[in-house]
Amino acid sequence: MRLIDSHGRRINYLRLSVTDRCNLRCRYCMPADGVEKLSHGDILSYEDLYRIARAAVAAGIEKIRVTGGEPLVRKGIVPFLASLAAIPGLRELVLTTNGVLLPEMAGELRRAGVQRLNISLDSFRPATFRAITRVGDVGQVLDGIIAAEEAGFPAPKINMVVMQGVNDDEVLDFARMTLDHPYAVRFIEYMPATREENWQALTVPGREILDRIAARFTLDPVVKGAMAGPSRDFRIRGAAGTIGIITPLSGHFCGDCNRIRVTSTGTVKTCLFSDGEFDLKPSLRADDPTLLTETLRELVHGKPARHGMSADRADHRAFAMAAVGG
Ligand code: SAM
Ligand code: SF4
Repeated sequence: MRLIDSHGRRINYLRLSVTDRCNLRCRYCMPADGVEKLSHGDILSYEDLYRIARAAVAAGIEKIRVTGGEPLVRKGIVPFLASLAAIPGLRELVLTTNGVLLPEMAGELRRAGVQRLNISLDSFRPATFRAITRVGDVGQVLDGIIAAEEAGFPAPKINMVVMQGVNDDEVLDFARMTLDHPYAVRFIEYMPATREENWQALTVPGREILDRIAARFTLDPVVKGAMAGPSRDFRIRGAAGTIGIITPLSGHFCGDCNRIRVTSTGTVKTCLFSDGEFDLKPSLRADDPTLLTETLRELVHGKPARHGMSADRADHRAFAMAAVGG
């Protein structure tokens, strides 16, 4: 079954957040004192999250990305992932993680049926990494990347959020990493989710990131697959891996958007930067087993054409990305 919205876009990708909690405190993702903790009663059980995932696949979703907060900090995540992997009709099960717990968990995640990992890494420099994440140790993430490869995962996507004057001087180092490693390094424009003061000063347009790399290396465009995300991808000539640019601010990709989000409290967001939200809990509690699927189809139908954010304008309500899943 195909899931098409009222703007003719095919929606086949669900980002499913399983927790708002995290073992890091990235400055672009949450305030310094963390997010206000949701009580256990607000967070959906794995049974309910599984029912949503199944209903979404029945409605036409083909790819699920499990995210958070940090998904690996929620107890019982591995059997939950194994249950998702077994949903008939689901073609891709992938996970986004900060990598901190991968040294101990990569093997069991692979055995559970997770097909690929996105790992967030914003700096190679221990002090910069600590400043961005407020508490993190970059060595754990680098060990996590190695552990993922040893566990048999395909080469990961590495997500770097580029911030002016914070880590933008490492763009070339990240690009260089693809010369010898088959990673897909993606440079993401910083988004003013929390609307921190003077956020405009932190943004580096994707075009500028690309120009900096192109000034040093020859870049060839990469043709992408049908389930690929919104990045524009290139390969440094002769490199083992690829680089990609994701430009939510400077270059909307709303016209090609193929995703919806469900948070760990059962809230559906059909657009990351529109304030419209819908609570799935009543549909979960209803007796009718088809209601969830029908509700998801209706919500997709009403998905907005585009968000209203740009390089100098943000009029959404401030939110912690950790509560939505990125
Ligand atoms: N904890 C996991 C992680 O960090 O990969 C998964 C959740 S995190 C919210 C998902 C992604 O959102 C990460 O790659 C993170 O860098 C990105 N993200 C969070 N806040 C962002 C922001 N303000 N601008 C751009 N990307 C952001
Ligand atoms: Fe945690 Fe990921 Fe947000 Fe960083 S970006 S605080 S690792 S949820």
